[in-house]
Amino acid sequence: LTEKFSKSLLRLRDSRKVTEKVVNDVLRDIRAALLEADVDYQVVKSFLKRVRDRVLSEDLKKSLSPADSIVFTVYEELTKILGQQKEDLKKGVVLFVGLQGTGKTTTIGKLAHMLKAQNYNVTVSSTDVRRPAAMLQLQRLSEKVGVPYYSFEEGLSAVDIAKKAVERYKKEGMDFLLLDTAGRLHVDEELMEELKQIKEAVKPSEILYVADAMQGQEALNVARTFHEALGLTGVILTKMDGDARGGLALSVREALGVPIKFIGVGEKIEDLEPFYPDRIAQRILGLGDIQSLVEKVQQTIPEDEAQVLATKVLEGDFNLEDMLRIIRFIKNLGPLEKVLGMLPGISAQLKHIKIDEEKFKKTEAIILSMTKEERRNPKIINMSRKQRIARGSGTTVSDVNRVLKEYEEMKRQMKKLKGALGLGTMPRLPR
Ligand code: GDP
Ligand code: MG
Repeated sequence: LTEKFSKSLLRLRDSRKVTEKVVNDVLRDIRAALLEADVDYQVVKSFLKRVRDRVLSEDLKKSLSPADSIVFTVYEELTKILGQQKEDLKKGVVLFVGLQGTGKTTTIGKLAHMLKAQNYNVTVSSTDVRRPAAMLQLQRLSEKVGVPYYSFEEGLSAVDIAKKAVERYKKEGMDFLLLDTAGRLHVDEELMEELKQIKEAVKPSEILYVADAMQGQEALNVARTFHEALGLTGVILTKMDGDARGGLALSVREALGVPIKFIGVGEKIEDLEPFYPDRIAQRILGLGDIQSLVEKVQQTIPEDEAQVLATKVLEGDFNLEDMLRIIRFIKNLGPLEKVLGMLPGISAQLKHIKIDEEKFKKTEAIILSMTKEERRNPKIINMSRKQRIARGSGTTVSDVNRVLKEYEEMKRQMKKLKGALGLGTMPRLPR
């Protein structure tokens, strides 16, 4: 959630009536979120019009406040547009196209790795004749993955290489030939002409457009040009490990109708994931992974225990036992940074905090080395007790001091948070 967005949601969460104003306010925030996620401007417009019609014509979800109900409708619509969960690749020649630097070559390596793990016979080749370094890059990747790289004598044209590669791939009875192509910094006629000829020559089973999620507002137009020239069968959105929220996914689905097949989440060979529409929908909206958070919360912490904790925080009666519970609770949720990202409203404020899992383990050990009495009443922990605790946990007195200081800080923060949000304002989506 952007900070502005979360504030207005918190404000609206309490209002029970759907007034024109509530709808307008929420949709205005959604609009800002979509634009911030780099969803194409026209796409935002048509999408919101549809949502608005639906919101005004439908009954509200009873379990939700009007604002949440509208947000949920938006979320449902987004997920619907983004399409099915996992799109399989058709066996055959897979052509990779896109601008230079978007991640074509890297993605071929990743996909070869993935397909090989699924026991397919995969081979790769490159038609990027103008940049020998790019061909070498793919060759290296293929060695790393352990799949054959088809190379041919120098001086062949891109189209000739493509033809020869396909001949060999057929002769060897492979399942997939992943074919790399040259990119340019901008769309140009020569590039498109070459790609059309390659397409004609190899009759690909898939033409995958590789797009950089960080590309911004011009990205849809570039994708459209490729789609009109070649007829794309899928999109791979790369660099989703960065700050990009992935609005391009929505744009290409809505405007071009082309499915998103995978997302790239890093530079390593394993960093390719299937496309999960619900996750991307949440990310585009900036709502955080609310649903899975709610599920996880229900799995790891019983309702009444959460209630006890909440009450204690409210009453300012928060001791080291509670801190231990919170630490364990958070640990059970999974990677901390991810968990914080899932907390709507809070994520914006905590973004700058760097979390250290090792430190958490140490903290846990230290609290476990305390007596019950010490945990409940940390004030009694004097120097000799600190020394005993440090020995018991295999740490040092300064580690113990750190934990005590963090406890005080946590107590203080909780009071502040309580004031800022009010407890029990965490939004819930029906499942
Ligand atoms: P190409 O010109 O389209 O073939 O692009 P490359 O495959 O050479 O990739 C360009 C740069 O983007 C390289 O530095 C890659 O490591 C990087 N890259 C590709 N995919 C990803 C991704 O999913 N995440 C991140 N962080 N970097 C990526
Ligand atoms: Mg390349």
